[in-house]
Amino acid sequence: MQTNRIYNFNAGPAALPESVLEEIRESFLNFDGSGMSITEISHRSKWFDDVINDAVARTKRLLKLDERFRVLFIQGGASMQFCMIPMNFLADGQSADYADTGTWSSKAIQEAQLQNKPVKVVASSKDKNYSYIPKEIEFSADARYVHLTSNNTIKGTQWAGFPDTGSVPLVLDMSSDIMSRPIDSDKIGLIYAGAQKNIGPAGVCMVIVRDDMLETIPDNIPSMLKYTTYTAKNSMYNTPPCFSIYTVQLVLKWLEETVGGLEKMEAINQKKSDLLYNFFDSSDFYQGTAELSSRSKMNVTFRLPDEELEKTFVALAMQEGLGGLKGHRSVGGCRASIYNATTITGVETLVDFMKSFESQNG
Ligand SMILES: *Cc1c(COP(=O)(O)O)cnc(C)c1O
Repeated sequence: MQTNRIYNFNAGPAALPESVLEEIRESFLNFDGSGMSITEISHRSKWFDDVINDAVARTKRLLKLDERFRVLFIQGGASMQFCMIPMNFLADGQSADYADTGTWSSKAIQEAQLQNKPVKVVASSKDKNYSYIPKEIEFSADARYVHLTSNNTIKGTQWAGFPDTGSVPLVLDMSSDIMSRPIDSDKIGLIYAGAQKNIGPAGVCMVIVRDDMLETIPDNIPSMLKYTTYTAKNSMYNTPPCFSIYTVQLVLKWLEETVGGLEKMEAINQKKSDLLYNFFDSSDFYQGTAELSSRSKMNVTFRLPDEELEKTFVALAMQEGLGGLKGHRSVGGCRASIYNATTITGVETLVDFMKSFESQNG
């Protein structure tokens, strides 16, 4: 690692694999022999076609998606999906089930309600400040879809596995854990993920949609908000965010060729989160905020004995080259986001720092 780079625990935009950043630097002035930067080439060129097609192919291989799935790149972030999903899938008379497991789920619910779409909140962990993932949920047999936030970035909880929804397709917000582990695509109707947490820079949202979901989309939706506009044109109805998609492609290549796939990535992520959680469990000074069985392997949220100490902790850590440890502004406390690109060495360095901070302040 270059000496002037920090260990980056930011929640998003977040750390990218250093080799990917270097590859971007190498190719930045002259992309693939074109004599132009990736930020200068036409999205209608063969160069960019190769980039987007490779990104799609790698996504399908990594997630083991069959031919029914389409991979799209859409702007507007994960937040725009909150409105597009009910707009596209809830025609007259149809309703959807939502689980409310934190800030992002609540926003997804609100955006459906704003459109007067009937949504049923079938589970919520609001009673305990969203510190757990609800269990034994009763889903509606006639729901059009079930919406879950796979990983709750702010509260530090994660669905360890997805519940049985019968024949109702799952719609998953995987913004902060896509590509962190293998998934069972059998139940999936749609996955969306803002790239800036785990797979790239800000500016693009990856959307994976099963083709039968596209059959009932109403005609009277504005083109830019309609999934079929993107499926018909390989995400290039208008100018796509070329640079963001290119970076995503490089991250996916890194996942396949350097990491060796999602089983390997999951094992590394398990090791990183174990390092932190096992340490909390041996300490009276640091307290994890999520219930044990709901702990996130991506966003590790914790508290120190008081807020003054938390401030000092975050500031001192930064001086030691450990950045981004402040909790989300809405909840306070501390958070270490340990996405795919954060290294085991980085997490070990953090745990060492936490031990020495405890011995000086505990
Ligand atoms: C960050 C985040 C969002 C919002 O993403 P934007 O791309 O900023 O709209 C939505 N859901 C989850 C789970 C997130 O972590």
